[in-house]
Order: sequence, then C-alpha cells, then structure tokens
Amino acid sequence: MSIADLKIPFGLRTTDGRVVDVSQVERGKACECICPNCKEKLVAKKAVRTHHFAHFGSHCSGALESSVHRAAKQILSEGKRIRLPDVWLEFNSFGFVYYPVTEPFEFARIEVEETHGDIRPDLTCYTAGGRRLFVEIVVTHDVSEEKLAKIEKLGVSTISIHLSPFLENLSLERLKELLIIDEKPKLWLYNDREKQLAERLRKTAQFRAVIWRVSRLGHKIPHVDGCPLRKRQFKSTFFANASLDCRYCKYQVNPKNRVPRKITCLGHLEDELKKQRNQDLVPEIGLLGADQQTLL
Ligand code: SF4
Ligand SMILES: [Zn+2]
Repeated sequence: MSIADLKIPFGLRTTDGRVVDVSQVERGKACECICPNCKEKLVAKKAVRTHHFAHFGSHCSGALESSVHRAAKQILSEGKRIRLPDVWLEFNSFGFVYYPVTEPFEFARIEVEETHGDIRPDLTCYTAGGRRLFVEIVVTHDVSEEKLAKIEKLGVSTISIHLSPFLENLSLERLKELLIIDEKPKLWLYNDREKQLAERLRKTAQFRAVIWRVSRLGHKIPHVDGCPLRKRQFKSTFFANASLDCRYCKYQVNPKNRVPRKITCLGHLEDELKKQRNQDLVPEIGLLGADQQTLL
C-alpha cells in the first residue's frame, strides 16, 4: 500500500486538545475531532477491517504526516522514555565495538519543537545531568543533509525514528510501543559521544611510518619499526608487517582495507589496557558500560 492510500490514524479532539485514535471516540461526526493539519472537521470510521478518520468536507494532503507527528510528540513528551538504538563505535581493526542498549532511557524532561540556533528538532530530550538528545520523527520526509550538518556543529546526539513502514492501521498503543520500547524504527543520525571517543583515541595514538624494504627474495615488504607488541624481530630491532600484522591488530585505529603510509597505533597502551575490565577493548568502553548517561 502506498503512503497516498493510507488513512488518517489520529485526530485532534476539540474538547481537550489531545491526539486520539478512533477507539477512543464516538463513531462518525460525534467524534468531536479535527484534522491536526488543516483543522477541518473529521469523522471517525469504525469499519470491520480498519479504524480511521476521514475529513468531513474537503481533504488535505498533509493529514497523515501531521497526525502521526502530533501523536508521536504527545507520547514522548508525556512518557519521557525512549529505547535508544544500539551504539556502534568504530575505531579499531576488529571493525566495530558494539554497545547494546536494552532498557528505555529515562529523561528528566522532553520539550516539543524547541529552537536551538536556527534548527528546531521535533523533540529535545534532557537528561537529569543536563545533556541533550534531539529526536526527529520521520514519516515521509527524511532529515536533510543541511540540518544534519547543523546538528553536528551543535554537537548534540540525535536519533531519527522512521515510522513509514508501520503506518497501516496504526493505533496509539502500537505507536507508543514503537517509540518507547522498540529499537527497530530508530537510527543514530549523530552520536556526539562516539565522536569524542574517536577523537580522544586518535590523540592518544602514535603514528608509525610504513617503510617499504626489499627482502632477500626481492619482495617489497611494508615494515613498521618499533612495534610495541614486538610482532617480529630483525637482530635487535622489533617491527611489524603492516599488511600481515597491523591490518588485523586490535590496537590499530581506523584502518583502511589497504596498507596506509602510516599506522595509527595504540599498541603502547597494551599493558594499561590489559588491566581494564574489558581486556581487549580500549578503556573508554568500560566507561560506556558504567552509565547510560555516557551514551549521548
Ligand atoms: S598496529 Fe599493532 S602490529 Fe602494528 S605496530 Fe601497532 S601494535 Fe604493532
Ligand atoms: Zn486536513
């Protein structure tokens, strides 16, 4: 079913200003609801297969989008809880470090359409410690690259919640589940903690030049002198082979799938890292696990 064929799932009840679904109101004109987009009167249709609203008079094109947006904002600003997507941190040659999120995140307050600089996210969530998370509700229009650049400049972690696959026969209860409990519709658009961690790691890393030397058999070998893990030895000198050792080394930061001109290496921290709770990982991961607040 295309978006154009979908019915209006929620109406704005005139008696109390709340967004409601058809199960909460009387059938037909007695529903006392208006369209959240054009403010025209709605009728509640309680059909056998689908419950939905329809305009009493002329139709408008933005009713579906507007009604889902209004409902999502109502649910989140009142519930103050959101299950965030899992966090993946990319910075070593094992690919990604994964931090699973299992519980909904509790916020101290959630504001609707608050202005920050020249952007106005759908929701701004504040933690008890004062950190912010922006939430963008996506029904038909994705977040623009321009807005994303502004979000990154502000340095506020942001998720988008993509509701278009779930619009058919959507009830308020189902929408609540999708927003608060479910992880599926959500994506990190930007995670400031991840950016800070990656920057900290890059600052801690040492850069080691890759020197191409010709072996006795005439092969060109990419050597990295002074490997802290002492992967290979020639006389009294320790070195690593960039393509055989560094490429698969957990202490290499952000490797590309080729031999770079210099290796970004955390090997000098090995002893310190081994003392950490998560031996294979960098210390910041322990910090991540310690407190949900550090996710944002
Ligand atoms: S990335 Fe690993 S193998 Fe390469 S020099 Fe550093 S510690 Fe040695
Ligand atoms: Zn309308």
